[in-house]
Amino acid sequence: MKDFIKCTNCGFIGLVTMGTEICPNCKISGVLAWVDEKHQEVSNTIWFEVFESFEDTGTRTLETFDTIQEAKAYRDYLIDSGKYQKENVLIDIWENVNNPKRVADVTT
Ligand SMILES: [Zn+2]
Repeated sequence: MKDFIKCTNCGFIGLVTMGTEICPNCKISGVLAWVDEKHQEVSNTIWFEVFESFEDTGTRTLETFDTIQEAKAYRDYLIDSGKYQKENVLIDIWENVNNPKRVADVTT
């Protein structure tokens, strides 16, 4: 398990070793907050889902990443390629590989 945090100084969002006080991006101490109070700790696995549309029930592309930064970079690549609309590309974070449970959406 890791802490799922956002930095109130630089905007970093990601997973850090439990109990970390220093932002891994801007290196400032005491600026980390929970992304989601109900899900302060999550597993190390992030599922990144690409939906061609919200109504679509057929085609879904699923990619997995170890960090939120990698997932975001891939999302940006898909949008920049012109293949997907921004509103149709979602990042969902799931925990528990064997019994998947969605813990958060990331929209920014
Ligand atoms: Zn920071």
